[in-house]
Amino acid sequence: MSASPLTDEQVAELAEILDRDLRGLERSMRVTDEAMRPVELDQTAVGRLSRIDSLQNQGLTRNLQEREQAKLGLLVAALRRLESGTYGVCTECGGGIAFGRLLVVPETPTCAECAP
Ligand SMILES: [Zn+2]
Repeated sequence: MSASPLTDEQVAELAEILDRDLRGLERSMRVTDEAMRPVELDQTAVGRLSRIDSLQNQGLTRNLQEREQAKLGLLVAALRRLESGTYGVCTECGGGIAFGRLLVVPETPTCAECAP
């Protein structure tokens, strides 16, 4: 009933990769959360330069956090499509997404042609 070109074995393999990616992402997001704790601005032991360093690091961490959140959104959406049996179907054109593409980016919602 779905237009997915994937075999059951391929879907199972990709489901495993998605699951692993999700768990790895959850772990790294916890680490990022730690790094996002507010910088102590009144620490007398910490000089101004290292304070600037910390703030700069937080800027980088914020970028990372945004990327992680974007990836999380894609992973969750992919897992929903797995549940509903529409995984491997391009959300743009409704065509099948190649297995090779899904192996590289299993969370992608679109085929190579519709990719932004
Ligand atoms: Zn497409």
